[in-house]
Amino acid sequence: MYVKRNIRTLAGLAGAGIVRSALKKLKNIPFIKKRIEREYAGIMERLETTLKPYRNDYETYAAMPEQGVSRQEIISDMERLKSAEEERWKDGYVSGAVYHGDQGHIDFLNTVYAISSQSNPLHSDIWPSITKFESEIVSMTACMLGALNTEDPCEICGTVSSGGTESILLAMKTYRDRAREEFRITRPEIIAPVTAHAAFDKAAQYFGIRLIHIPVDSEFRADVKAAQKAITKNTIALVGSAPSFPHGVVDPIEKLSELARSRGIGFHTDACLGGFILPWAKRLGYDVPAFDFSLPGVTSISADTHKYGYAAKGTSVILYRGKDLRRYQYFTTTDWPGGLYFSPTFAGSRPGALSAACWAAMVSMGEKGYLDAAKRILKTAQTIKDGIGQIPELRIFGDPLWVIAFGSDRLNIYRVMDYMTGRNWGLNGLHKPSCIHICVTLRHTQRGVAGRFLEDLRSAVNYVKAHPDEKGSMAPVYGMAATMPDRSIVGDMLKGYIDLLYKV
Ligand SMILES: *Cc1c(COP(=O)(O)O)cnc(C)c1O
Repeated sequence: MYVKRNIRTLAGLAGAGIVRSALKKLKNIPFIKKRIEREYAGIMERLETTLKPYRNDYETYAAMPEQGVSRQEIISDMERLKSAEEERWKDGYVSGAVYHGDQGHIDFLNTVYAISSQSNPLHSDIWPSITKFESEIVSMTACMLGALNTEDPCEICGTVSSGGTESILLAMKTYRDRAREEFRITRPEIIAPVTAHAAFDKAAQYFGIRLIHIPVDSEFRADVKAAQKAITKNTIALVGSAPSFPHGVVDPIEKLSELARSRGIGFHTDACLGGFILPWAKRLGYDVPAFDFSLPGVTSISADTHKYGYAAKGTSVILYRGKDLRRYQYFTTTDWPGGLYFSPTFAGSRPGALSAACWAAMVSMGEKGYLDAAKRILKTAQTIKDGIGQIPELRIFGDPLWVIAFGSDRLNIYRVMDYMTGRNWGLNGLHKPSCIHICVTLRHTQRGVAGRFLEDLRSAVNYVKAHPDEKGSMAPVYGMAATMPDRSIVGDMLKGYIDLLYKV
């Protein structure tokens, strides 16, 4: 909600002339530079008031209080902050974000967390319970994702990580290190569809890998021919999504992974979003293309337990075909005076309690629980898809199951989103091409939510049609972002936004 309001302020940037100035590449002329700086400062000031809504009502601790504040006071403040924020996601107004959210489930996870809150799997000798939980999380996820359809199910292995991004970073680092060791590749490249998650760009930046983007077809699925053309002697891995974050469609994983196999390179299926839905959707009879280890070319999969695995935020699973491959992920050092040291993932110390809560979520849900949840989510998504299909001004992108992206050939879709924001909805704005999406979770399966969404969406479309000249708040920002040739200015703005987050 704050992001939305802040973006509205960012929109001022477009109108302020700063963008046009930049476009003309005049930003280095002193007079223009001064003006940009002045305008930038003004925008940041306005942003700040919306980003920091609690400054007036709560004590701010720029430095520690001399005397500790009472536990009771802290808890009562935190309860107040929580109630100010929870209604929106609880009542199903938000796309994605909270995937389960029933009070009983939350209470259960909190109890489990509390039991293990002191544990740290870095000290596996002190907490072998966490080792048990993590090895079983990995094994249960592997079995769900096709390990049982392989010749040797034990070959499918992996680790628990802190989230989808870490799982993807780990996989890309693993392929890089294997390629260097086994194939002497020193200028590694990965190939990913433009719709693949930003975490692949992040991995490329962090690890000195060149990311080659391939286009998607009219149904938003990766172009296999383009992938074939993009392979070079430096390619270390190909990537596909099951499904993609923006449009919720599954790439042609079978073809892509076969291509990778025929060329002796790795293939990563990003099932962060779909890993805990697609297997159950398939069992329910939905048309789910193959995406997991039952395809011999798939050599790694990321699947987020903290999304549709219904664990607390902070866990994900990265799986590999082959223990040799997994070893390239590990870190070990034998010379450190601090002792023989090793860790499976990026972190050193880790919250064992999150793994405990993840394990508890999986074991308490069971196959039946996941199947029922998927059934409810897919049914609600169908209702929403049917409803959008009946609004002639809107068009659903691709053929999604439960992450529904839609745009319009006649209306500015960001203005539709602005209206929905005004009705309390938190939808995702996407671009290239212009559209918005709703990622359906268990929150939306509550009675009345889908109907309310469609009713508001119809009003939004009617409103935008009736008020063609209004500017809206998000609309100018996306309009600007889409037409800016100098991406560094947009990037700088985003960095300024992060700076603000950490301003006390
Ligand atoms: C959410 C998501 C990720 C990254 O996950 P985080 O948990 O936010 O780090 C990667 N890929 C896809 C398809 C996702 O939906």
